[in-house]
Amino acid sequence: MNYRHAFHAGNFADVVKHALLLDLLRAMQRKDKPFLVLDTHAGIGRYDLSAGPAEKTGEWRDGITKILAAQPEALADYLAVVERLGLYPGSPALAAALLRPGDRLIACELHPEDAATLKQNFRGNPGVAMHERDGYEALRAFLPPPERRGLVLIDPPFERPDEFATLEKNLVAAFEKFRTGVFAVWYPIKHRAPVREFFERLKTSKLRDVVAAEFLRRPPTDPARLNGCGLLVVNPPFGFEPAGAAMLQAIQDVLGEPGGSFLMERLIDE
Ligand code: SAM
Repeated sequence: MNYRHAFHAGNFADVVKHALLLDLLRAMQRKDKPFLVLDTHAGIGRYDLSAGPAEKTGEWRDGITKILAAQPEALADYLAVVERLGLYPGSPALAAALLRPGDRLIACELHPEDAATLKQNFRGNPGVAMHERDGYEALRAFLPPPERRGLVLIDPPFERPDEFATLEKNLVAAFEKFRTGVFAVWYPIKHRAPVREFFERLKTSKLRDVVAAEFLRRPPTDPARLNGCGLLVVNPPFGFEPAGAAMLQAIQDVLGEPGGSFLMERLIDE
């Protein structure tokens, strides 16, 4: 396991993922009934961008820093949470910040050092449980949740060439166990072919009600670069598509390069 999220925290892909995630968390809050957030690949939770690995790469300077400076209206809620939390919040920090009494967060991280930091960062937080554990295995262990309401974030590092296939298999199995759950799945766009194949396989699977929110910073012609990213959402809550599209447009306006684009596309009907 070579991937350490601290090197990439706050970059454009994090902004896309976290802004959309916050909208999904807000949707969970719209009903009074308690919910579970299951974050299968959690990282360490919060990141000091001015020190250590994040400082070394400086990817955040071309991501969250520019977005904070521009303050687009569509991202006002996300940016207010980022500013309130201080250190740059990763996915478990955003989820933990939005839990109400009775809601729960389970977050898993497999890298032993990062799992220890994750546990340390959230020690004593009510409703929060951090595990050093394989996130895919956690899908089998924790779904369906007793609450019957849940948001599942699957955000793997894509270090392995078979990650799309692993993801597809585990996502479909998790959906079959928890058909009413909201699943958000992050994926990189280096070039189009692997994403196209992933979508084709999903379309012939048992998944229903799926949209893809994508941000392409630039046309994906150089496969050595992270040219864009997407968030696949299964069972998107009412209002996610227009709100998410407005967020992607705002990110495009600030971070997009010539030829960049975004889309909110329905992949599979209900
Ligand atoms: N979700 C985090 C966020 O948005 O702040 C970032 C997660 S990062 C992209 C992926 C993380 O997954 C890394 O910290 C990596 O160590 C961890 N990881 C890799 N394989 C894993 C597995 N099988 N189960 C759980 N965590 C894993």
